[in-house]
Amino acid sequence: MRQIAIVGSGPAGYYTAEAALKQWGEGVSVDMFDTLPVPFGLIRTGVAPDHQSIKGVSRRYEATALTENVRFVGNVMIGRDISVTELQDFYDAVILATGAPNDRKLGLPGEDLSNVFGSAAFVGWYNGHPNFADLDPRFSHDTAVVIGNGNVALDVTRILAKAHEEFTGSDIVTHALTALDASRVRRIVVLGRRGPHQIAMTPKELGELAHLARARPLVDPVDLPGESEDAVLDPGQRKSVAHLRAFAAAEPRADREIVIEFDFFASPKAIIGDQRVEAVEIERTRLVDGKAVGTGETYRIPAGLVVACIGYQTSKIPDVPFDEKGGRFANVDGRIRPGLYCVGWARRGPTGTIGTNRPDGFAVIEKVAEDMGDGTGKPGRPAFDALAGKRGIHYVKFTDWQKIDEAEIANARQGAPREKFVAVEHMIEAAGRG
Ligand SMILES: Cc1cc2nc3c(=O)[nH]c(=O)nc-3n(C[C@H](O)[C@H](O)[C@H](O)COP(=O)(O)OP(=O)(O)OC[C@H]3O[C@@H](n4cnc5c(N)ncnc54)[C@H](O)[C@@H]3O)c2cc1C
Repeated sequence: MRQIAIVGSGPAGYYTAEAALKQWGEGVSVDMFDTLPVPFGLIRTGVAPDHQSIKGVSRRYEATALTENVRFVGNVMIGRDISVTELQDFYDAVILATGAPNDRKLGLPGEDLSNVFGSAAFVGWYNGHPNFADLDPRFSHDTAVVIGNGNVALDVTRILAKAHEEFTGSDIVTHALTALDASRVRRIVVLGRRGPHQIAMTPKELGELAHLARARPLVDPVDLPGESEDAVLDPGQRKSVAHLRAFAAAEPRADREIVIEFDFFASPKAIIGDQRVEAVEIERTRLVDGKAVGTGETYRIPAGLVVACIGYQTSKIPDVPFDEKGGRFANVDGRIRPGLYCVGWARRGPTGTIGTNRPDGFAVIEKVAEDMGDGTGKPGRPAFDALAGKRGIHYVKFTDWQKIDEAEIANARQGAPREKFVAVEHMIEAAGRG
């Protein structure tokens, strides 16, 4: 029996478990650890609450989770409750699938002012991640600035712009819905250092902005390159830019009380304010060889909320080599050191879609199979259980998560699929392990 520990129950963790089952069938035992008592990583706490069909992918992971040979071990933080070295003593292979949960810093003066957030925190707040339940963002100023030109910036913008009714069918947590209901934000400025041809927004997500009940997207036609230049783009980019062209050409609509302004060629230089953010100072840029270069022209946008959607970093774990520049574990094709591997965002950084993690999971299991052969005779589960008993680690199993899931569904407000617990102790209580 090969004994495998996977650390992290997000997409990368589950695809890796699926690959292990394909590789060894009955000949493998997988323990999948997670800090939280609930599985699925960013499917639960990152993917937008109004994109329920995407969140539906977790049902596929359930099939893996319910297999005899795979065990969910929730509410256990590796690096705090048990070290990686200890795990390596118990399991033939330890695979870190811990994602990239920390916001990259803007590196600007004023970024620590109140009401300036990174997207991990802000998205975690509206998606019910226990670490961010107390974030308490304020929506009392009429202008919010969203920094970044990727899909996370789009998610944040859409959530800020939607009316109450547009959250029907979503699982946005009630504390966020209540705060957004009282929001005075009427202008959302989306800053991109480069131009329309350089955005990382995908067409489906960008197109959604045109169908919001009370908001309209605005693009300055001056920022758009000549249409013939779109020929160099790949088909997806071309569709995204077509949306921007449509936004630029659309007639103003008096019935839209919120405006979403795309401010391209705009590089934030400082967040201004006394304790709380009051404005963002920006330098106009131009493109030189595809890079944004400052022009020296600056301006300020008065704003009361800033959300930076500029990328993420993996959390360090003691005794695991870290690639500071890449913001992820130091690895060569998923190998960190003998018996220790990484996969998903923890391996390659925060890029790609949910599906990108599947080949990653299969590739890392190929490496493990090459290195491990028939197994190294480690004790696996019983050894972990003995240590957990000694150390008073009360872990949560998949059947406990199913009880939490049931309770969340039962607690759902009208029209919502669930009301998430946002405190770990409430999750544990719902699992009947209080
Ligand atoms: C805001 C946002 C929206 C997104 N929307 C989409 C979308 O609509 N469509 C799409 O295709 N992709 C989307 N993505 C990308 C997608 O979520 C990622 O590709 C995917 O979640 C990465 O999987 P992962 O398993 O590497 O990391 P994660 O999903 O982050 O999972 C990591 C898991 O590890 C656990 N963990 C971390 N540290 C420890 C530790 N020390 N001990 C134990 N457990 C630990 C965490 O609790 C978490 O459960 C989105 C990403 C973000 C940030």
